[in-house]
Amino acid sequence: CGIVAYIGKKEAFPILIKGLKRLEYRGYDSAGIALLNGQLHVYKKAGKVSDLEEYTKDKSIGATIGMGHTRWATHGVPNDCNAHPHLSHSESIAIIHNGIIENYASLKEELQKRGYVFHSDTDTEVLANLIEEVKKQEKCALEDAVRIALNEVVGAYAIVVMEKNDPDTLIAARKGSPMVLGIGEEEFFIASDASPIIEYTKNVIYLDDKEYAVIKRDGHYTIKTLGNIEKSHAIQKLEMS
Ligand code: GLU
Repeated sequence: CGIVAYIGKKEAFPILIKGLKRLEYRGYDSAGIALLNGQLHVYKKAGKVSDLEEYTKDKSIGATIGMGHTRWATHGVPNDCNAHPHLSHSESIAIIHNGIIENYASLKEELQKRGYVFHSDTDTEVLANLIEEVKKQEKCALEDAVRIALNEVVGAYAIVVMEKNDPDTLIAARKGSPMVLGIGEEEFFIASDASPIIEYTKNVIYLDDKEYAVIKRDGHYTIKTLGNIEKSHAIQKLEMS
């Protein structure tokens, strides 16, 4: 239901927790965080963001890239396991997702035939594994795997994806669910709405439907359509009192 992600020079963890609290008003049943620091560290809990905060108290990792999610369950009961982020089968890809993958059942069946084991009842885990499988088949970059996978998906989504072997890249995509990119000084934010971003930067880009952004630690970002056409967006100024 709520998405927040960060890449930059600061410690991601407190920014993500604070961002999740800003998104609480949207309603949710579970919350979780993934941090990347050599390894992918995933912490998730049914219940409040404050429960997640309590659970992660002694676990704070000095990562400067990460993602956080508040879940409103649609596929699978609200529990720790079904909470986001979800990892792909080989635990190389982490994903958070708002929305619904309508054709998840047929995709899941196909992936299971190829040996993928699932740990949750969510539609989201199917997408994590589909991206991994496309990447393996096509031997392509994560960005291409995400785009190709999303072209096989029916449904509505806002997603953020990161990969264990690439601490310098975040990928965000949307179709039918909102997504805003915050452009700071040597740092980027991604969120479902501007509320987690406003205190850090007023420079934002709202992604259009069927677009994705590839965000790099060095300050570069590219926005493309799911048809692989590059787009240029003017940066907007947030005005909030
Ligand atoms: N369909 C996903 C799930 O049930 C995401 C729900 C959401 O938007 O929070 O896990």
